[in-house]
Amino acid sequence: MNKGIFCISIDFELLWGRRDMPNLDYFKKRIPEERKAIDKLLKLFKKYNIPTTWATVGKIFEKGNPNYSGLDIIKKIEKVKNQEIGSHSYTHPEFTKISKEKAILEFNNFKKKSFVFPRNKIRYLAELKKTGFKCYRGKDRNEYELLMPRIPPVYEPKMNSGLLNINGSMYFVSGRGLKQFIPKNVRYLKSIMGINNAIKQKKIFHLWFHPIDFVDDKKKLFSDFEKILKFADEKRQLGQLKILNMGQISRVAKK
Ligand SMILES: [Zn+2]
Repeated sequence: MNKGIFCISIDFELLWGRRDMPNLDYFKKRIPEERKAIDKLLKLFKKYNIPTTWATVGKIFEKGNPNYSGLDIIKKIEKVKNQEIGSHSYTHPEFTKISKEKAILEFNNFKKKSFVFPRNKIRYLAELKKTGFKCYRGKDRNEYELLMPRIPPVYEPKMNSGLLNINGSMYFVSGRGLKQFIPKNVRYLKSIMGINNAIKQKKIFHLWFHPIDFVDDKKKLFSDFEKILKFADEKRQLGQLKILNMGQISRVAKK
């Protein structure tokens, strides 16, 4: 790679990732706020011209309960330039817990170019490749990366089972529960270190999150997030950085 890359991927699932969990009600209450957070994110992506990948649960495309169905949101995402709809599977199972046959159905029922495994549980890559996917997000070290006193890792994209692994670097953690005590600017400063490191090493800094993560402590999180986008945009204008979504990276990395 001749330049560092900043990549953002978004695990977009409404309640699909929570339906078997004890805190389902806690998240249910936040779905209307999640819709507002998505509007705000899209506004920022438009303002700073930021490509991203929305790794979407396929079921969100179907009509139904607004806690699980989001055609209204999809239409908004598709209106903003360089927003890629990727796949986060069809129904959000944990791939380490399902059969190969079920996995193939999950891939086939919502076929896109870029894939993000639910809960980053990676399995059945050969089948994913056979379905026609081009790339996936590899597991990052852990969600507490943010709290560690080190520069978040940056990675070179690597082929694995015929797919490009665009490894995650950092989870932009929510402000839920105890995480509300993470001071302002921590997410920003860590991301800036990651972007600078990507520039220096000509590698990828890959930030990811769920839109619902912006619902609690939103003022602080949006302030940090906008500063990250502004910084990345400035570095791009200086010719030092590319900002690309996963699908774009998989096309560039092939050349
Ligand atoms: Zn998920």
